[in-house]
Amino acid sequence: MLMNYIMGKISKGVECSLDSCSNSAIRSISSKNVDSNEFSISSDSNKVYFCNEHYKSWKKSTKELRKSERARY
Ligand SMILES: [Zn+2]
Repeated sequence: MLMNYIMGKISKGVECSLDSCSNSAIRSISSKNVDSNEFSISSDSNKVYFCNEHYKSWKKSTKELRKSERARY
């Protein structure tokens, strides 16, 4: 899949990096792929951890950005 190279599975017990969220994270994403205007991240590291809920909304926002790219196919 196209997105696999920027995402990795993470170990259990890691919390979502969003300020307002303390759910268990299911995915780690390179922070350069996360729009900090849209997601308030509490982590300073170059990895961002998302719970299921916020991973979905991140994926949605990424899809919006990629619409123009996709139109070529
Ligand atoms: Zn979350």
